[in-house]
Amino acid sequence: MALHTRLGSAWLYSATEVHVFNPTELAAHPFLCRLGPDVLDPTLTAPRLAARLLERAFKGRALGGLYLDQGFVAGVGNYLRSEILFFAGLRAGHRPADLSPAQVQRLAGETLAVAQRAYRARGVTNEPQRVAQLAGRGLRYANLRFAVFARDGEPCHVCATPIERAVVSSRRLYYCPRCQH
Ligand SMILES: [Zn+2]
Repeated sequence: MALHTRLGSAWLYSATEVHVFNPTELAAHPFLCRLGPDVLDPTLTAPRLAARLLERAFKGRALGGLYLDQGFVAGVGNYLRSEILFFAGLRAGHRPADLSPAQVQRLAGETLAVAQRAYRARGVTNEPQRVAQLAGRGLRYANLRFAVFARDGEPCHVCATPIERAVVSSRRLYYCPRCQH
C-alpha cells in the first residue's frame, strides 16, 4: 500500500490487513481512539509532553511501563524506551510524580529529540557526532547505533561502565548504571 501527500509518501510492504478511516470513524474506533499523541506529531511540543507526564493518569506510573503504553504516547517501541531513558539520565523505576521539574522537562525534551533523531537516521539514536566518533574507532553499526539498547556487557559510550540488561513490563530494557539515576 502507498499513501501519498503533497509532502511525501509512505510505502507499506508487509501489512496483511489495512483499514482506512475518516476522522469520525477514527474517533469511534475502540482501540485507536485511546491512542496518545504520536511521538512524531509536530504539534507535540516538549512543554505539552511535560504536562502530559504530570497528568493524573500518568504521573504515578513507573516510566518503564508508561513508555510502552501507547495510550500515553503512541509510536514509542521497546528500543526507544531504553534509549530515551538513557538520554534523560533516568532509571525505569521512577514515576513522573517523583521527578523534579527540571527532570520532567529533560525527559519530555529527550523523548521528542531521540524519537526524531531515530526517525531521521533510520533507527540510529546516537547523535551524529557520536556516531562519527565511534565509527572512527572502528565500531560496527550494531554497536554504534544505540547508546544502550542490546549492548549489555559493552562499555557505555559516555562513561565506559558496562551496560546492564533488565526485564521491565515483560520487555527487555538496557541502561547504564552510572549515567542513569
Ligand atoms: Zn554511562
